[in-house]
Amino acid sequence: RLPAPEALLADLNEEQQRAVTHGEGPLLVLAGAGSGKTRVITRRIAWLLAMGIPAERILAITFTNKAAQEMRQRVERLIPGHRVWIGTFHAFGVHLLRQFGDRLSLSRSFTIYDVDDRNAFLRATMEAARLDNYRYRPEGIASAISKAKNQLRSPADYARSAVDHFAQVVAEVYPLYERRLRQVQAVDFDDLLYLPALLLREHEQIRSHLDDRYRFILIDEYQDTNLAQYEIVRRLSQDHRNLCVVGDPDQSIYRWRGSDIRNILDFERDFPDARVIHLPRNYRSTGAIVSAANRLIAHNKQRKKKELRTENAWGVPVRVWTFRDGLDEADQVVRRIKETVQAGRFRYRDHAIFVRINALTRVLESAFVRHGVPFQIVKGFAFYERKENKDVLAYLRLLVNPQDDVAFERVVNVPARGIGETTIERLRNLAAERGCSLLAAAAEAGRCTTIKAASARALTQFHRLITELRTRLDLPPHELIDLVLQRSGYEQMLQSSEDPDDQERLANVQELVTAARQFHELNPQAGLTGFLEQVALASDVDGWDHEADRVSVMTLHASKGLEFPVVYILAVEEGLLPHERALRDEAELEEERRLCFVGMTRAMRELHLCHAHLREYRGVIRCAIPSGFLDELPRDQVEWHDLTSTDSNSTRPGDRPIVYAPPPSLPPVPSLPSSSASDLSGSRRGGKSILPPLHRSAANGEAVEGLAPGIVIQHEQFGIGQVVAVSGFGAQQRMKVRFPAHGEKTLLVAQAPFRIL
Ligand code: ATP
Ligand code: MG
Repeated sequence: RLPAPEALLADLNEEQQRAVTHGEGPLLVLAGAGSGKTRVITRRIAWLLAMGIPAERILAITFTNKAAQEMRQRVERLIPGHRVWIGTFHAFGVHLLRQFGDRLSLSRSFTIYDVDDRNAFLRATMEAARLDNYRYRPEGIASAISKAKNQLRSPADYARSAVDHFAQVVAEVYPLYERRLRQVQAVDFDDLLYLPALLLREHEQIRSHLDDRYRFILIDEYQDTNLAQYEIVRRLSQDHRNLCVVGDPDQSIYRWRGSDIRNILDFERDFPDARVIHLPRNYRSTGAIVSAANRLIAHNKQRKKKELRTENAWGVPVRVWTFRDGLDEADQVVRRIKETVQAGRFRYRDHAIFVRINALTRVLESAFVRHGVPFQIVKGFAFYERKENKDVLAYLRLLVNPQDDVAFERVVNVPARGIGETTIERLRNLAAERGCSLLAAAAEAGRCTTIKAASARALTQFHRLITELRTRLDLPPHELIDLVLQRSGYEQMLQSSEDPDDQERLANVQELVTAARQFHELNPQAGLTGFLEQVALASDVDGWDHEADRVSVMTLHASKGLEFPVVYILAVEEGLLPHERALRDEAELEEERRLCFVGMTRAMRELHLCHAHLREYRGVIRCAIPSGFLDELPRDQVEWHDLTSTDSNSTRPGDRPIVYAPPPSLPPVPSLPSSSASDLSGSRRGGKSILPPLHRSAANGEAVEGLAPGIVIQHEQFGIGQVVAVSGFGAQQRMKVRFPAHGEKTLLVAQAPFRIL
């Protein structure tokens, strides 16, 4: 029985209620972090159902599979047994392609290539077409093709605008790549959006059928849609314009992947009759956190002004922690978390640690182990990316789609069957001559004079193995995996190995069987294809178990949409946050600021921002400059703690209690003119990096002798300025310079047009 619609509105504020009960027509909910946007979507789905809208008329899109799962469960609690389709754009793309792919000459059992498969496949395509002698790497070409697809540019479109040499090479490879992908019945990840968009554009009948079917469409995190996703949404909302999108432009953080903030900013232009609702109140965070986040994001120029407000208590101040180095940072943060939990203030699961790049998690891992603190690093697909699991998955893919040459090449000689690279090369030629798949060619290997008899025998045997296994495709996925492991000899290979790593690999492939069994229990109808699909669509955050009592560690990107009582953001330093990619580009810098904003607004009760003076990154230890973002926080509200001045020699690292040092004064810097000393002390940071003398010259070949804080330079564009800090070495050497007329700039020493005065 359905609940009365009004019962679904009780714990919503007035604006949220208006959004939930909005009738027909386009609706835009534009609101800040933690204001209940996701709650509105969830509740609106339930409300539509309670109003009698059939579940199959509703389509809800979330940003991750994890978010979809959570939304499904929430709706389930309100409307038990509902069957609304809730999932990501990519999953929806797969859903459409399985139904209508035949219009694009795609069979139902198509394979989805991940980035590695795609790159391998592109390389093979280029080799086959003798296009591999260019100086461009296949990865670069693959990523250009990916970008083109996200912008809905077909090979022909691309070719028309290819001006430079690289683009011309891409224009040559792109159509070949597409043709070969279709031949092997595979799609790459971008195709999951690109092909449905084409389908809806070119097949009016299908478009209007789906437009009619999905009468009500709801989209969360709309600020991060790309052009292909936008096209899908628009095409499905032509006849029935009941499109509800929610988002926050300040949280758009996937520009690098083709997301276009204009999709949300221009919604009102696309749907002039759209109703726009703002949600005024943040329910998630304390006053201190909201205030700091507001201040930071206000520094972005490309934005509509908007302030978060909260009626929550002010809480404890946001804290900035200064550490000596990255090891120290990891150690003390983990230690502090442990103390907090032992004091009974929070549980482990209430804590999250965010980093800008995955590489920073390694140091954390050992700190967790050392302190015996339970943790989970949220890197969902790492499990499926292990070599052994990819091997087993390749067997499965080959069973489902015998055309899948990438899968074939991956496993034909694993375990070793005496099939070498020369044989494969000849087999490729044979397949090319016959216009058939490698697997089909393997069956014919005996008749090919260039392939040695023993290899030909091994190939026909492999063909037989796969053909036999294919007769068992009706088995549940975990049983089939088990069968593959036995019949292929893969399990035997690991069992008999002396290499201790192989025992771990064995455990991993057995875990894969478990994963498949669990999947089967939840989705009894989905079969092997369904399982492979789930694997292919898995993203970082999907592997995250939010119920386990562990500290969660993840990238800032993965933290989107989540919330935790206590949040630590590590390495808030120039070059990391903002990332060095963004140092010379204002738009990129604003995106980094949004990323920092997203991280900060995940925190409910406590927010800790950390940075260190020395940072080991990509194998090099550098002096790290605190992020300019820290300077943008409200100084009178934020607490600064310098933990560098504690005596670290008397105790081993990790044995030290946390010392709440008073805000340090600036240490004397010998060559620093007095004016800049007073400038710097304003930032209340201690231990500003005093760099060792430079030994190495910058990339131009000219040594930049004695470049150090305090030195005055003349820059071609920004005029006279004073060096505030220097970091990095050689071509990567950077200096932060304060220009009276332009503010602080971080410049690449080797490239900046300047001279020392
Ligand atoms: P983000 O921008 O980070 O995605 P959001 O706008 O989607 O945030 P939600 O995650 O929906 O916000 O809500 C944030 C928190 O506030 C959640 O814990 C939610 O349960 C709570 N919340 C939302 N609306 C209300 C309300 N009316 N009363 C009480 N709590 C609420
Ligand atoms: Mg949300």
